[in-house]
Formats: sequence, structure tokens, C-alpha cells
Amino acid sequence: MSTNITSPLPPLEPSDHRGASRGASGPSPRPGIATLPEYSRSQGKASVRWIASSNELPVPPSPAVQDAVAAAAADANRYPSLAGDNLVATVAGRLGLEPGQVVAGAGSLALLQLLLSTYAASGDEVIYAWRSYEAYPILVGVTGAAAVEVPLTGGSRHDLKSMAAAITTATRAVIVCSPNNPTGTTVDHEELMDFLDRVPAQVLVILDEAYREFSLPEHDSTHLLKRFANLAVLRTFSKAYGLAGLRAGYLAAGQDIAANLRRAAPPFPVSRVAEAAAIAAWDEPDLTAQTISRIVDERRYLSAQLRNRGIELPASGGNFVWIPVGGRALELEAACLAQSVSVRAFDGEGVRVTLGERGATTAVLAAVDSMARLTIPPAAPIAR
Ligand SMILES: *Cc1c(COP(=O)(O)O)cnc(C)c1O
Repeated sequence: MSTNITSPLPPLEPSDHRGASRGASGPSPRPGIATLPEYSRSQGKASVRWIASSNELPVPPSPAVQDAVAAAAADANRYPSLAGDNLVATVAGRLGLEPGQVVAGAGSLALLQLLLSTYAASGDEVIYAWRSYEAYPILVGVTGAAAVEVPLTGGSRHDLKSMAAAITTATRAVIVCSPNNPTGTTVDHEELMDFLDRVPAQVLVILDEAYREFSLPEHDSTHLLKRFANLAVLRTFSKAYGLAGLRAGYLAAGQDIAANLRRAAPPFPVSRVAEAAAIAAWDEPDLTAQTISRIVDERRYLSAQLRNRGIELPASGGNFVWIPVGGRALELEAACLAQSVSVRAFDGEGVRVTLGERGATTAVLAAVDSMARLTIPPAAPIAR
């Protein structure tokens, strides 16, 4: 809509400013924005020795990736491609998909926001498991849609049967996070197929696979796109590829979904630097496999050490371990900080520890040992 300078509306005077008549609070956001939950910030980064709070890799990008970043930065005066076209072509080629099925974004969060804002609005419902990724309530809330949170099972896993049963005529999308952040639990291939069979074709299923590389799945979920036109798979370069600071991710979906997202997306979503880094990182599969295997070893070690101490935890498929300490989460976080390691605590639920450095693992174990009788019974489903 364009504004005509011969508009009959009189100019706003400071005295009859709309905001002024509502008090001195300034412009009001849409309903629901002011009460959105806040994404937690990592704390204590400067003061701790080990950062195990944000599921990042503990190592800097490889020399080849840093070279690609420097080369792309030298062209920073030029806009990048309209839609991350090189990254899209690379991803499509690697996964055996049509380029029209792939959408690139500034991290998978940006793509999740694009999906939700394209498919859901006020009056709609979006279903996801809870506890899951803390960005979901925020991104769903921004669309104006109602969040329908389905509690995890007692084993901290997605309850896909209940999630399918929660679908109503108002449901526009269901988010499935596998491996689930923060509990690490995975949805296996058969469970996912069974779930997709239950979901009506007009309901979008968003499969958030931010950590898939750490769970070494036998099946590639993008193969399901042939059979389920309502599926969108989200992946990122932030976790296993170690590029969290650059913001690059992609989505694979049916042609129709991808076409709608391209229409709704802002132009130039991926910076030149992020695109070049993501492509370069994908060109080093051996290095990536080595990093992943080191982290999976660390996961095995920390999980075993915690279980030896009588702590029951769900099997994790991520680069992190979930310690379901319930009401003692903040106490464990403080004990970890006292050992100079930052972790992510969820008050009343548990603590998530990012894996990577043995020093961090040792510090977390020292923190656990410093607490009185920290033995944990199997977790009860978490209500919000
Ligand atoms: C970290 C994370 C993301 C965000 O990834 P970006 O690509 O950095 O935006 C998405 N989903 C889950 C479950 C995550 O834990």
C-alpha cells in the first residue's frame, strides 16, 4: 500500500499522538508479544573456564573454512545471492533432492520462524512436545497461534500418539524435535512413519533435526519427503559443523511448501560469509566425522559416569546430556559454576550439559560429587 501525499488525514501533532492518549508508553506491539517468554542467555562466559551451556562445538572452524570466510568477506560490498542459491544447490545435490525442495536460511531458527509465520496465525494451533526447545513457545507465540504443549513421556521422549491425538481442525503445524533439546531423546524411523501416517495431509509436520549428526541415524528422514508432502525437515550448520556464530541452516520439504516459503521469505536471507563457510564445512566430511565421534565418545563416558553414581538419564542422541535432577537443577548449576563450567539449568526440571571437552566433563562430575546424595529416580512427565 502506498501513501498519497495528498492524503486527507491531518499530520499527527505531538499533542494528539495516538500513543499519548494511552499514556506515555509509546507504540504497542500486537497482542501477545509483551508476554512472550525470554530465550535464556548463556551466563558467566567470561568467568568460567569451560562453556557447556549452548550446545556449541568447543573448536574453531577449520583453516579451510576460515579461508572461505575470508574470501567471502572480501566481497562483502556485494549482496549475496537472492536465496542462498549456492548453498541450496549444494544441499540438493548432496541429498539427491530437487533444488526446488530446499530453502536456505540464517540458521534453522530463521527457517522455523519462516515456516510458522507462513503457515500459522492468530486462531490457529501449533503442537509441540514439552519440555523441548525453548525457542518454540517464542516463535509460535509471535505468529499469534496458540501453542499446544504435549508432555514428554516418563522417559523424556516425544509422546507421538498423544501429539497426533491433540490435532484439531485448528492445528496448522506439529513440531517434532529429534534428538530433542534438552532431553536428547530421539524419535526412531518407525515411530516417525507411524506418526506421519496419523497426521492429516493438511497439517504441516516440522522435523527439527538440529542434532541429527550426533545420533548417527540409519535412515535419512529426507527420504520421507517422497511419501509425505506435508513434511519439512530442518537442519543446521550451527551444531555438528561448528558454525553457530555465522547463522546458516536449510530446510528440505515438498516443492509446494518450499515454493510458499520462498514467496514469504525476505530476500538475501544468508550472508555471503555464512554461505561460503557452510559449503566449505560440508567439504570436510572426515573432519566432521572425527569431531562427531569424539563427542559421541564423550557422551558415552559422561552418561556411564553419571549412571555409576545412581543417576538415571535418558539415552542422548545429541552433543549434550540431560541430567533430570528436578528441583535440584539450580543447585547443580551453581555447583558446576563453582567448578568453573557453565551448563544450562531448567529450574525444577534438570540440567543440560554440552559435550566436547574432557575438562568440562570432569568438572561436571566433580560438581555432582560435591552435592549431597544426588541420586535421581526415573523422571516423571514434565508439565508446564
Ligand atoms: C540449536 C537449535 C536450533 C537452532 O539452530 P540455528 O541453526 O543455530 O538457528 C534449532 N533447533 C534446535 C532443537 C536447537 O537446539
